[in-house]
Amino acid sequence: MRTLCFLTLVILAASGAPAADASPRCQRTVGQIGRQLMAVDLAALQLCQQGIAAGQLPAATDCFTDATTRQRRDAAAAQRLSRVTQACSDADVLALAPAGDCDNASNASALGACLGAAHDNASERLIGVAAAAATALPSAAQACAAAAARETSAYALARLRVLQRCKQSDDRLALAPGAMCSTEPRAAHWIAVRRGLAASRIAAACPAAALAQTPFGSPCDGLADAAALAACLLDDAAPAAVDAALLAELGDPGFCGDGGAAVEQRIDALLAQMTLDEKLAQMHGAGLVGLSHTEALPRLNLPGLVMVDGSRGVGVAAGQATVFPVGMARAATWDPALEQQVGDAIGVELRAKGGSVLLAPTINILRHPRWGRAQETYGEDTYLLGRMAIGFIGGVQQHVIANAKHFAANSIEKTRLTVDVNIDERTLREVYLPHFRAAVQAAHVGSVMSAYNQVNGHHCGENAHLLTDVLRRDWHFPGFVESDWVFGTRSTLPSLQAGLNIEMPSGVYFGTPLRTAVTNGQASQQEIDAALRPTLRAQLCFRLDSDPPVVNASLVSTPARLALTRTVEQEALVLLKNDDGALPLDRSMRSLVVVGSLAAETNLGDTGSSNVSPLRAPVPALDGLLAYADSVPITYVANGPTSAAATAAITDADAVVVVAGLDARDEGEGLVTHGDRDNLALPRGQDDLIAAVAALNPRTVVVLEGSGPLLMPWIDAVPAVLEAWYPGQEGGHAIADVLFGDVVPSGKLPVSFPVAESDLPPFDNVSQSVTYDYFHGYRYLDRNDTAPLFPFGHGLSYTTFAYDDLRVAPSVIAPDGHVQISARITNTGSRAGAEVAQLYLAAQASSVPRAVRELKGFARLQLEPGESRRVSFDVRATDIAYWDTPQARWAVEPLTYRVEVGASSRDLPLQGAFAVASPPQ
Ligand code: BGC
Repeated sequence: MRTLCFLTLVILAASGAPAADASPRCQRTVGQIGRQLMAVDLAALQLCQQGIAAGQLPAATDCFTDATTRQRRDAAAAQRLSRVTQACSDADVLALAPAGDCDNASNASALGACLGAAHDNASERLIGVAAAAATALPSAAQACAAAAARETSAYALARLRVLQRCKQSDDRLALAPGAMCSTEPRAAHWIAVRRGLAASRIAAACPAAALAQTPFGSPCDGLADAAALAACLLDDAAPAAVDAALLAELGDPGFCGDGGAAVEQRIDALLAQMTLDEKLAQMHGAGLVGLSHTEALPRLNLPGLVMVDGSRGVGVAAGQATVFPVGMARAATWDPALEQQVGDAIGVELRAKGGSVLLAPTINILRHPRWGRAQETYGEDTYLLGRMAIGFIGGVQQHVIANAKHFAANSIEKTRLTVDVNIDERTLREVYLPHFRAAVQAAHVGSVMSAYNQVNGHHCGENAHLLTDVLRRDWHFPGFVESDWVFGTRSTLPSLQAGLNIEMPSGVYFGTPLRTAVTNGQASQQEIDAALRPTLRAQLCFRLDSDPPVVNASLVSTPARLALTRTVEQEALVLLKNDDGALPLDRSMRSLVVVGSLAAETNLGDTGSSNVSPLRAPVPALDGLLAYADSVPITYVANGPTSAAATAAITDADAVVVVAGLDARDEGEGLVTHGDRDNLALPRGQDDLIAAVAALNPRTVVVLEGSGPLLMPWIDAVPAVLEAWYPGQEGGHAIADVLFGDVVPSGKLPVSFPVAESDLPPFDNVSQSVTYDYFHGYRYLDRNDTAPLFPFGHGLSYTTFAYDDLRVAPSVIAPDGHVQISARITNTGSRAGAEVAQLYLAAQASSVPRAVRELKGFARLQLEPGESRRVSFDVRATDIAYWDTPQARWAVEPLTYRVEVGASSRDLPLQGAFAVASPPQ
């Protein structure tokens, strides 16, 4: 019986169904233990902090490593954790699907161990913010510090209890799909009562004078009054710690929220009422007429799905919309919060056009810049891709379902339908998949699109390893997988059994052939139900039935949304080179010459599936400059010095701006547009044009458009180069804003620019079988010690920044611990500006080949002249784990890890280190 149960759980998990609930005893025990562990941890850490504040312990004591404190915490953990193995079977753990710090726990003893670490981490993070006791304090400050730590801890524990109770009771069944227990009326009431109590006690203990003397941890330090302090501690720090604890204890409810259990009951009822034909109609697209969609089923109030492309705005199939800068440009902002606004805006516009699934973001690694769809993705680095995807999906899914595509390793156009991409498991897990995992686990994306290509001998639409082992089993993806269009589904049974849920755009394999397979007994009703469940779940959890999209043309391309496209491009522009202050241009100049046919062209990007038709007139670079510079006489010379008059104008100009680059004739989606780039050179004689102009006028500034990396044989002849990408429909204005200095540039490269194409790994878009090894992009250049033309992460400003005071603490962490890394950034120039500080880590003397450095954090800071601020990164040891292929698990090596912080992957003035200790035997 037990074996049978276990098998059922495995099948359910593979279908994306939440496995049946873990036994109530296991859930209860895990919750109780979690609370007790956190209570002991918080009390022990507070005691230590108070000891320092009262002068009883040396000021230099590190409470997180202090031996007595550690002993107290370890003793409590050892006592309690053995109960997990008594209360939970391994099948319970599978059903619980713990997440966060317990993500890798697959049996009861592993769960016991990781629960301890998870509560350690959550408590330390909370106390790190809430306890103010780096040194002995005056008595009023001491009272404030003690009260804040006590009240924050008590509130966190009370909140944890209330949420655990809701998540384990029938109260959650009353929640709307997608809602969380924190909004369930009874839970919300108790949380509000406890918050009020804690806030009033903090206010009483922390009058302004005491507060001013009490140093809290970042970001709750230096706040104006006790109300702001309470808000920081109780609304941000405590919920974050509690959420982390809950993830480890009770798993991640995903996009259905805590209301998911009621949705599953509804799905059971629906499946019982649907005929086979009705079920199959939900499993494939309804054809190529109109917007791509699956059929609605009005009889059961099922709306079906309406799908529209949208990497840079709502796709042309749905009419006209706002055109944003392409994904690669947006990646250059390194600003996930801004990307969330972009996702939000595109989501609003899609909903206003009746769509329910946005076929974006494209999050394939840019292995080589010749890939025709380079412009759609967020660059070459998995960490940056993941952070930007989280921002975008978070915005989109306020309104509609997002779609992470193309899963996986889709980065060649010419052979995209057939090529077999061979990737060893470690490279797959560490390089080509982590950003998809972030989309699933951190952003809760509702759908994933399988790629056209093969990975390791199987087309992605029938690749059981990708769709079932990784996506369902390891990541617990609850949403649906649809195939890429037309050639993305290759079979009936193999696709169904591998984990494909929807064939798009029609039912070549999942229509009649699937029906026949069921009738013949080759596919069972259970398999059909299991494959359909994620699709129904997404429709119901995103409330497409109860709150369907409403067509509303007035919401499309509003002035606010056009302003957003301009802001995004302002942040996306990367100042690659700027010798002798060539930029910004002088507003009082007598003459500016603009050169290049691209300057006057609307250049918004590919005309394949990512094409967007602008509702409002787009602004090319020339129009932006003309609109900006009414006081500056501008002469436009499309073809450069081809006549005596043009030569004279260029020669005599105070400055020349050459706009050059790529357009839809040079790169795009395979089969439908140009496909992969032929090489990395500027086409149509533009190298010669730039060289000829620079020879006439040394004050020549080059503005580049396109997806990114280009060879620049003329680079030494020009003082300034600005990368503008495909700049979106307001791009011309943004380019003028930066060229004339109204906006200080702050973009950074999401991709390395090589000196020569031979500096990169080969790009083979001819062979039917290619190998993707571990290294590409900056990792490849670093490994070969090859200097790039412009490195990953590079971007200049009109002001300057200094980096100092790197702090790494603690210096030794456990394999399940975490380290705080912080540094101070100062604006040392004379203009306000933004800097993107970057954190890179490197394993020293690893047992496996590793990158010389890997991006593991970044932060964008806006700084006034002279202003300094700290950036802080919380890094878990597991963030630098490698995939241990023989053991099929992540492994944290007990090694020294180098820490580097700075302005690009090749400008890292701050260096430090920490070590990961060997696990206790
Ligand atoms: C593309 C997808 C796109 C789909 C629908 C395919 O050719 O590869 O990215 O979403 O068409 O337009």
